[in-house]
Amino acid sequence: MKPRVEAQQDVLAAMPRLPAVHVPLDLAKGLVLAEPVVAPHDVPPFPNSAMDGYAVRADDITTVPATLRVVDELAAGSVSQVIVEPGTAVEIMTGAPMPAGADTVVEVEVTSRDGDRVTIGETRQVGANVRPAGGDMRAGDLVFEAGERLSAVHLGVLASLGVVEPYVSTRPVVAVVSTGDELLPPNSPVPPPGKIRDANRASLIGLLGDLGVDTIDGGIVGDDEDALRATLLELAMRADVVVTSGGVSMGVFDYVKQVLADLGEIAFWKVAMQPGKPFAFGRIGDTPLFGLPGNPVSSVVSFEQFVRPALLQMMGARTVFRPRTWAVMGERVKTNPAKDVFLRVQTRMEDGLTVAVRSGGQSSNVLSALAHADALAIVPVGTGVVEPGDPVMLELFRCEGSR
Ligand code: AMP
Ligand code: MG
Repeated sequence: MKPRVEAQQDVLAAMPRLPAVHVPLDLAKGLVLAEPVVAPHDVPPFPNSAMDGYAVRADDITTVPATLRVVDELAAGSVSQVIVEPGTAVEIMTGAPMPAGADTVVEVEVTSRDGDRVTIGETRQVGANVRPAGGDMRAGDLVFEAGERLSAVHLGVLASLGVVEPYVSTRPVVAVVSTGDELLPPNSPVPPPGKIRDANRASLIGLLGDLGVDTIDGGIVGDDEDALRATLLELAMRADVVVTSGGVSMGVFDYVKQVLADLGEIAFWKVAMQPGKPFAFGRIGDTPLFGLPGNPVSSVVSFEQFVRPALLQMMGARTVFRPRTWAVMGERVKTNPAKDVFLRVQTRMEDGLTVAVRSGGQSSNVLSALAHADALAIVPVGTGVVEPGDPVMLELFRCEGSR
């Protein structure tokens, strides 16, 4: 059995790097920048008002109430031609550029208006409610480094900079296949004895969708060596990465390893983790193949530990792992000291601490408990028992409160 962290390093080191292309902004979500983004100009490009109110000279409102003459009205999108001389003010809307002469904005809530006069009820420091040019980003700033993964908000930042075709990694194409004679498609009526519905493709294709990669649904292949060989060969040609589930254990009909060895090469098999021990990694031609265990929780946990980081690595991401944090265990749990054990946990805040408790049964077939979990707690090799109050490392695969 390979130590989990070593297995992760081997997988990451084996991943080819995808080419980079310019992609329209609306197609770039989830992709990874292949070059840094430098601000071509200030954002905001000009000093402007943060409030609806009056643009004034701070010197005019050092004693209040102060009554000023209103010389203009300025909407966002317009530029005032007037200069705010002492004793005057411009009525200004949020986002409108500061008129010449004014240095401060007083929000409308502390003013009262009478004809062309406004009475200011409170003093304000110079610069109050004024957003300076470049207050968000300055011309020449390194806004994002290469390796930054584009979230929806990143797209907004790029839009504000006019970067409409960011240079990003291509989107990997990942083929997903379930293996097993017992598997039926999810739309099957109540399965007859011996059969079950295929859960893994739904989870795995969903997780790949969250990651923003393209998927090929390779369907279900029975425990038939020839059929498996034909399917994997074809998918390895069509996809950048192939992900199988099932058929990598010690069973007589577990053909994935055999077929992988015949068509390509097995880099390693079996990792010291639970769930997820019977994991096989290798390649067919240049296409990496992840042979995930069949048990539904094992397949998702192995996906999380190996496939997700590997795809992010292929895309050139700087951060390939989920965010981690410490929590305290809220209950006693016995674990296998020979492996890194992943517990499905729910988290709650208690006296300022994050407390983790199991979200349900911990057998590798109990997928519902993973659906009810916020995080996986990693209990490292050598542990054996976690007591209430012991620290545990969490890997957050869903945010607290997203249940
Ligand atoms: P295997 O790794 O093929 O020995 O499968 C281990 C266990 O996971 C068996 O109980 C299988 O029935 C189950 N299993 C395998 N593939 C799936 C799947 N796609 N959906 C649900 N259960 C599965
Ligand atoms: Mg099987």
